[in-house]
Amino acid sequence: MAAPDDGADGDEPLLAVEDLTTVFHTDKETIRAVDGVSFEVSEGETVGVVGESGSGKSVTARSILGLIESPGTIESGSIRFRGEELTGGNWERHRGDLSIVFQDPINSMNPVYTVGNQIREALRIHQGLRGQAAREEAVRLLEAVGIPDARRRVGEYPHQFSGGMRQRAVIAMALACDPDLLVCDEPTTALDVTIQAQILELLDDLQREEDLAILFITHDMGVIEETADRVNVMYAGEVVESAPVETLFDGPAHPYTRGLLASIPGRTATGDRLPTIEGEVPTPTESASDCRYAPRCPDAFDACERVHPEHVRVGPDQTAACLLHEEVRPRPDGRGDRGRRRRRRGRRG
Ligand code: ADP
Ligand code: MG
Repeated sequence: MAAPDDGADGDEPLLAVEDLTTVFHTDKETIRAVDGVSFEVSEGETVGVVGESGSGKSVTARSILGLIESPGTIESGSIRFRGEELTGGNWERHRGDLSIVFQDPINSMNPVYTVGNQIREALRIHQGLRGQAAREEAVRLLEAVGIPDARRRVGEYPHQFSGGMRQRAVIAMALACDPDLLVCDEPTTALDVTIQAQILELLDDLQREEDLAILFITHDMGVIEETADRVNVMYAGEVVESAPVETLFDGPAHPYTRGLLASIPGRTATGDRLPTIEGEVPTPTESASDCRYAPRCPDAFDACERVHPEHVRVGPDQTAACLLHEEVRPRPDGRGDRGRRRRRRGRRG
């Protein structure tokens, strides 16, 4: 592969997402599924995106891969790969540099072709391999993802594979593009716990052996703790906290992060019932003029309904978008209202 020479400066991360806003225009309303999201992924790094269902994780992933279809559109923001802008239709140039693994392995494969056939097709398109070379590489990839008896199984159909083996095969297909960045969108959510652990271990090995950067998306804080170097917590289309994984788990700065952490089994000794965050993620249809988490937040105070929190630095390498961490904003009458917190747990937004 030719050395990248696109005028990017050497400090550019592998992937830089900046102020990404992806919306869906429906008959009734505009859904702001991803609303001003920024984060970076460096070479060889695993960056996690975590949040409840509906927070915009998958739309973020699809935006990065150029997979947003009508009625969706990337409304604004920037997605740069090695310094080169992808939005505006430049994904074609980087096809194969970025690859995605979805939650459901059965829908990721074509049932009428053998597993080997599908891997060879990816090898042909992305690496120009054909014939014997492609056959050998397909077997090597299946071996690399831990499929026993790969030489025989390369000739089998997806339905002949168990769920875990199928997800391994899907990962092999993703690797056939020889990607620099692998986006994994809930890759283990459909699998049982034992198989999940094996797949996570596999991704970890592959990252080192194949020199991959991984963007790992999950709703599961336990999985994030095991996989990510750095974590972005998403809520209702926005990143609300970003920190290295240890920092996030030792000192979560956003009440939403604290809520997610409290619901990890075994983390808090609270008898037999895990605390959960009451209520649901709202579907954002307007630009935020408040904190979208406020209606569910145990720490919300008056200003949270009126002010959209910006990210503030709360530690050397940690930011949170929460008014608890901002200087008291003067109200129109000149008084701060930091002290006027009230509990609003249970109120629905
Ligand atoms: P997550 O992956 O975090 O569970 P998604 O990214 O799938 O969440 O969805 C974020 C929001 O975008 C949700 O409110 C969802 O309803 C909306 N959304 C996703 N895809 C579409 C679509 N094709 N049309 C309309 N709304 C969509
Ligand atoms: Mg999703």
